[in-house]
Amino acid sequence: MTDAQVVIVGGGVMGVSLLYHLTKLGWNDVVLVEKNDLTHGSTWHAAGLCTHFAHNPTIQELRATSVRLYRDILPSETGQSCGFHASGAMRVTKNPDRMDEFAHVAGLSDFTGYPLEVLTPERIAELHPLATLDGLLGGIYEPDDGHVDPTLATNAMAQVALGKGGAIWRYAPVVSISQLNGSWYVETAKGAISTKHIVNAAGTWGWEIGKMMGLNVPSVPVLHQYLVTDTVPVVAERIARGLPELPIIRDPEESWYVRQERDGLILGPYEKEGQVWSVDGCPPEFGADLMPPDLDRVEHIIEAALQRIPALETGGVKSVINGPITFTPDASPLIGPAHGLPGAWLLTGSSMGVMEGGGSGWFLAHWMTHGAAPMDALAIDSRRFGAWADRDFRVAKAVECFGLQFGVHYPNEERPAGRGLRLSPLHDLMIERGAVMGTAYGWERPNWFSDKVNDKSDETFGRANWFEHVAREVDAASNRSALADLSVFSKFEITGPDAHLFVDTLGANSAPKTGRVGLIHVLTAAGGVASEFTVATLSADHVYLTSAAAAEEMDLDLLCKRANGFNVSVTNVTEAFAVIGLMGPESRAVLGKLTLADLGEGFPWLCVQEIDVAGVQSRAMRVSYLGELGWELHLPTDQAVQVFLALEKAGAAQGIGYYGAFAANSMRLEKGYRGWGADLTTERSPLESGLSFLTKTKDREFVGRDAMMARENPWDMVLLEIETTNVDPFYAHSVLHDGRPVGIVTSGAFGHRTGKTLALAYLREPGLRTELQVKILGKARDAKILEQPPYDPANIRLRS
Ligand SMILES: Cc1cc2nc3c(=O)[nH]c(=O)nc-3n(C[C@H](O)[C@H](O)[C@H](O)COP(=O)(O)OP(=O)(O)OC[C@H]3O[C@@H](n4cnc5c(N)ncnc54)[C@H](O)[C@@H]3O)c2cc1C
Repeated sequence: MTDAQVVIVGGGVMGVSLLYHLTKLGWNDVVLVEKNDLTHGSTWHAAGLCTHFAHNPTIQELRATSVRLYRDILPSETGQSCGFHASGAMRVTKNPDRMDEFAHVAGLSDFTGYPLEVLTPERIAELHPLATLDGLLGGIYEPDDGHVDPTLATNAMAQVALGKGGAIWRYAPVVSISQLNGSWYVETAKGAISTKHIVNAAGTWGWEIGKMMGLNVPSVPVLHQYLVTDTVPVVAERIARGLPELPIIRDPEESWYVRQERDGLILGPYEKEGQVWSVDGCPPEFGADLMPPDLDRVEHIIEAALQRIPALETGGVKSVINGPITFTPDASPLIGPAHGLPGAWLLTGSSMGVMEGGGSGWFLAHWMTHGAAPMDALAIDSRRFGAWADRDFRVAKAVECFGLQFGVHYPNEERPAGRGLRLSPLHDLMIERGAVMGTAYGWERPNWFSDKVNDKSDETFGRANWFEHVAREVDAASNRSALADLSVFSKFEITGPDAHLFVDTLGANSAPKTGRVGLIHVLTAAGGVASEFTVATLSADHVYLTSAAAAEEMDLDLLCKRANGFNVSVTNVTEAFAVIGLMGPESRAVLGKLTLADLGEGFPWLCVQEIDVAGVQSRAMRVSYLGELGWELHLPTDQAVQVFLALEKAGAAQGIGYYGAFAANSMRLEKGYRGWGADLTTERSPLESGLSFLTKTKDREFVGRDAMMARENPWDMVLLEIETTNVDPFYAHSVLHDGRPVGIVTSGAFGHRTGKTLALAYLREPGLRTELQVKILGKARDAKILEQPPYDPANIRLRS
């Protein structure tokens, strides 16, 4: 039996990149096992496109890191080229919404520093002389993009890793994986390895290797093809004249890409109805193989591409590459710890594994060696899909992602496939009352309430159809009372003699006393915010925690890991409790009709009590994310409907309303409350996030404390009021000072109670207090820092 610190399963671009980065970070006892030779999965036949275009800063960084690696670092380390062609790339469109999207992504790039240029049709003609312009509104240019030879890049990473002590076992298929006493045992055809860490980097086979590890990896292979032309005379002529390589061109509306390949072209179409392949297990004998060409499926897309690039027709088809790409339910890779399996990691599911591979290996290697991800991992965290992501969901979402490979990403986007998986007991009631649903970690949850049946949110970058409806919801919640279904929260019970002690040492704040509710941020080793828990201490041996829906698996892993050494049990009770929010100045009167409990002085703000509501024992917490008088009622799932109906009846005379997630978002921004996942991430500490009042460092030890205190050049979170009309901030807008990017918006909305457009943003130059602007959809708009929340800064309404 061989011993190793890490075993990586899979020698594609992703696995080899991890081997490279781990060995460079000093973890040299690493074995990569590969069933064939390196790159014999999806990697060898990829078209090699590398881009900087992304809506999320982390994903953009993965892509930019790959380019730097393939273009500059590996060639200097090995003395050999990876076949990187710095051709640049562009996307062109006829769709005005797409132009908004381009402006948005270009705005993000002001902050991240990767140049993107919004194009006019004239500029498109200049940059891509083979493109026709009919109907085009414009485009976006990515000057640092290009394409790489995936095999050369993978082999270059392998060469460096081998030189640093990493090992590669070729022709060593993994046949079983097991776990005993904190070690993993990996059985291969060339012998067994015992290891502390195991990484699934099996790409197309990610699901099978996941099954061996005891996981349901939510990725599905979908067939994608591209065709390579023979010589295209005009391209050959350009080469003969010494002209630069043509930029890669994509038409997202027509769903194709074209790049120069020697003196010909490559055309890659993405059809709307993708064809899934080997959903229940990719054949083990499948290797560096291809499917037969199937151009009928994509004929209409080829037609569209010919209209835009007529020179394609002059080439003739030399070959067609048809192979599997894995798609996760949101088309982003699965990177990070595997839920519930200490020492197990995922680095798989990438449908853009070449452009993301170099960066993904860096990201996971940093996470494994430092105990914390180098950037916010939420968009790629391997635990963002739970056990609810069943086979039908995986397939439906993979097909949807493939078809919408180039779809516009609108703010608050809700895609239709794979819906209705996790339903609160109040779901049907919500629909009857006009709820327009969104999703959160598989749950259906009301986003807003319409006066029409089966209404939908507009897809737009501007103000959507729900704006006035949200205004009505806010009116009810701030002037009368309003009900909400908040059942999607993740919920955990900590029980046992050490329950209070455990929670008291868990994070940046101490645990509330019995009968009280508090907020605790749990930190990463690097001092960033990993989790945010609302903590209700029911007794010294019983503490109840709630957190964001999307955090369920991450928080459960974190609690179980940190509970080691304490005499406590951690139980996930997410589905055992439903939660009803009752908010507004009349909420006391409404609730008072259904309970004998003292809701006045006997039940102050930030307290928890078990009370009887309409005959149902309810865990009532006097808290409000909206900044109003109100209660959250946590009660057994099967009794939620009866309590909801009773509350509705009790409030009917006073015009009780409903509110959804959009109204809650608007109202919490008026209070300056930070949202986990958007404003609070592992990148920034609670101190940088303006939460020093929830951070107790004196005479306390907790994970991340010293790292948080020692942070150099800290960032500063500010609440901004922005001058805009008809467009509201949402996410990832650059903040400018003197035209220079100095920060980034993490969330925003219009505040209906204050009439202000608000955003939370991090500034990397904390001294800056004036002359700020926020760039929304390409236009810089004046912004000022609000030194205190614009709504009820003294919390009079909360305490009333
Ligand atoms: C036609 C086409 C064009 C593409 N073009 C692009 C592009 O332009 N840009 C881009 O970024 N991406 C592109 N892709 C996607 C890209 O190819 C993949 O995302 C990427 O190769 C995935 O790399 P990987 O390392 O995750 O997986 P893989 O390359 O599939 O590697 C997984 C490895 O695991 C090994 N393995 C499996 N089972 C076992 C086992 N039991 N034991 C040991 N080893 C095992 C396999 O042999 C394989 O080598 C394209 C894909 C296709 C099909």
